Amino acid sequence: MDDVSMRRAIERKRDGEQLEASVWEAIVAAYVSGEIDDAQMASLAMASVWRGLAPTEAAALTRAMVASGATLAYPEGMFVIDKHSSGGVSDIVSLVAVPLVAACGVRVAKLSGRALGHTGGTIDKLEAIEGFNVTPSLEAFVEQVERVGCAIAAQSDAFVPADKRLYHLRDHTATVPSIGLIAASIVSKKIAGGANAFVFDVKCGTAAFMRDVAQAEELARMLVGISEQFGRKARAFVTDMNEPLGRYIGTGVEVVEARNLLQGRETDERALAGCLKIAEAMLELGGVLEPRARALRAIGDGSAYEKFVEMVEAQGGTRVALEALEPDARVAKLQASSAGKVTAIDAVALGHAARELTATDRSAGIRVNVRVGDNVVSGSALAEVYGNGIAPGALASAFAIV
Ligand code: URA
Repeated sequence: MDDVSMRRAIERKRDGEQLEASVWEAIVAAYVSGEIDDAQMASLAMASVWRGLAPTEAAALTRAMVASGATLAYPEGMFVIDKHSSGGVSDIVSLVAVPLVAACGVRVAKLSGRALGHTGGTIDKLEAIEGFNVTPSLEAFVEQVERVGCAIAAQSDAFVPADKRLYHLRDHTATVPSIGLIAASIVSKKIAGGANAFVFDVKCGTAAFMRDVAQAEELARMLVGISEQFGRKARAFVTDMNEPLGRYIGTGVEVVEARNLLQGRETDERALAGCLKIAEAMLELGGVLEPRARALRAIGDGSAYEKFVEMVEAQGGTRVALEALEPDARVAKLQASSAGKVTAIDAVALGHAARELTATDRSAGIRVNVRVGDNVVSGSALAEVYGNGIAPGALASAFAIV
């Protein structure tokens, strides 16, 4: 596709037309080969955010993105599952659910992304573990899924390169919140990863890309619908993202929270419930009976944590590096200036702050000590800020107390 045809495609999308599958195919191929540049692609992405993509367009874009790289395959008869979140704050579900499900005997092949907008990325979190390789070769990834039972990798030049480029561009141009673009980005990674079935965690609320239930349900339907067109089984859940899922926001600090949860040491009910909901669905699709009880047993007997260590070691990290991770020792508290009830927590502001903090310090981040609905006394610590990139006072407006 040349510059003029691309301009025509942008004009048509800007004016609310649907683009044919052949046009999406040509756009993706030309973007990956460098024939069309980021300026034109960003313009098309923004037009897509405003005008939306029809389900047929999202499916065509997905297909074109899958075709931009390799698609993995596992031995005949081997059941492999994958999961994906539409993006949240303190979203540790992948870090917990992947080894947990594998420890229960269901193989997981997970293709993940980096931070997008105010939301965190599993790949950035795993990179906080010294030595962890997020871009294993395709052969090494498949071998690890077969031998260890789970692996997590990023898009690469070999693996959905179209999503790698477009994902980065959307993050930089504020063009993430489009149901069609999100669906194509997510499902293309899932199909390329080669799993037989997927579980989607569609975050909904003030700190999600889908702010209301109707939008979240539309995204859920699109994710399942496109997956089924590719012959995959899929389930989607709409889950709350009106406040952070867990207590920690950052990269290394979220690994610490996931590690503690897998070791049975973390007792935050909201985080545990969020992880178990997705793990349970993955196990159910994998044919495991009484999946919740099975998952809880794997946490209790230590096998889920040991599977996490095994995965870290298989991807170049070590148990010592994983266990050495701790929040930055430089910590400052944000104190409540008055007593009252916490009525809202602005997780978007906290997510942006955590991205800023972790840009240069992987053990920096934020710990949120309160939940919406908690009563606090004047002077109590609402949050702790690790590292020295942001003064806690700058986060005061993220907590509404009345
Ligand atoms: N996760 C993805 O992989 N892509 C998106 O666009 C949003 C969340």
